[in-house]
Amino acid sequence: MESVVNDNVMIVDEINNSEDNSCEEDSEAKSKNDVDGDTMIKKKRMSSNPSISDDKIERKKTSYVWDHFQKTNDPNKVECNYCGKCIAFKPSNGISGMKNHITRCKRFPANLNRKQNLADFESKTITSPGGTSKTVKVPRCWQFDQDNCRKALARMLIVDELPFVFTEHEGFRYFCKQLCPEFVPPSRTTVTRDCYSIFIEERSELKDLLSKLSSRVCLTTDTWISGQNLGYMCLTAHFIDDRCTLHKKIIKFCPIPGHSGEIIGKSIEKCLNEWNLRRILTITIDNARSNDVSIQYLRRRITH
Ligand SMILES: [Zn+2]
Repeated sequence: MESVVNDNVMIVDEINNSEDNSCEEDSEAKSKNDVDGDTMIKKKRMSSNPSISDDKIERKKTSYVWDHFQKTNDPNKVECNYCGKCIAFKPSNGISGMKNHITRCKRFPANLNRKQNLADFESKTITSPGGTSKTVKVPRCWQFDQDNCRKALARMLIVDELPFVFTEHEGFRYFCKQLCPEFVPPSRTTVTRDCYSIFIEERSELKDLLSKLSSRVCLTTDTWISGQNLGYMCLTAHFIDDRCTLHKKIIKFCPIPGHSGEIIGKSIEKCLNEWNLRRILTITIDNARSNDVSIQYLRRRITH
């Protein structure tokens, strides 16, 4: 926007400098605007052409914003040429309201062009008729997308195990501003929501995958006590899909009320019911006496 505004100022400057300005235009310009002359006058005074008289300077008051607005019947309102919106205008207050509208107006031509495409390259694997495949770089168009960036940021917090408040850190915000000024880093509350949406999405995909699985699932589990004296249990599922790819997924991470065999057994059973998992091959747990009880409990409960 800056460059556009500056260009416009330049254009107005040039028009004002040129000798062949018609009288009609001049008088129209004069009647159109009696504010915001300061900037233009200063520009003129700084210009290297000393031959321009003060009288001439006084006539060059038209601000570029007037090219984008027209007067209405109400002297305190002007209408945007692009979206037709009426903007409050008081000669005594200047034209800042109009300027602000131009930078925000969604129909202003320069604003329409804001989402520029950037040329970029992506890797693609091409298989030749002979069966050999190679990776080549092919051009593609990249466009800024706030939603995509937010998703990628949430993914980064998950993968790198960062705290949600990371997005509010001063250093990170400065980095984002330098990298892509259009990107607005989300607050910790928003990014928490984004992470939760990813969790819901991934869980539903995993449920779908497990429901179609033709192989059995192996489980591993462990429990521990946190610094706040709270008991936790983690249950991991290991399986191979139809393409023989090994998967390892945490299907439950939850607080448990105690470490007795029956409590652990019940927690595992509840989790298997939630995931609708029936075809279990093995359960691997630590060598503790309480775990013997939980295995006996599960043996009784899980029927093949
Ligand atoms: Zn507008």
